[in-house]
Amino acid sequence: MPDCARCGAEGVEPPNEYWDSYVYCDECRAIIEDSKENGVVVRSRHGNRLSDEVPYEVTVNVDGIKNPHTVNSSNRPRNQVEALAMGKKIMRKHDLPGVFIYQKSGSEWLLEEYLEAHPGIAEDVENENKGFLSRLFGN
Ligand SMILES: [Zn+2]
Repeated sequence: MPDCARCGAEGVEPPNEYWDSYVYCDECRAIIEDSKENGVVVRSRHGNRLSDEVPYEVTVNVDGIKNPHTVNSSNRPRNQVEALAMGKKIMRKHDLPGVFIYQKSGSEWLLEEYLEAHPGIAEDVENENKGFLSRLFGN
């Protein structure tokens, strides 16, 4: 049996015998699910697209319900860095947890941990948010 993709706990039972995606132990699964229920969710929507262009969606969930305002927002991120930067900004502003769901591989991360594991992307995300602030305040 595979190990938990988050904490490395050994021998996690996959949801079914055909499962070929990431698995998480009960404890990590609970932490991720809680953050999805009431938090910021950044999701890549690969689907079966042939093009390299991947749409991203950033939503704020309350009790598992997507906030319609964020779902219908015209301010859609154009790429992963913009999506993560947008998610991070909302997390900071409202003191919420965040999850990054990478649909293609089926991996789910606490957004902070994803950035810690990917310092290059974390730097781009910080710069994106700094750029946003400087556009706002003109410096
Ligand atoms: Zn775990």
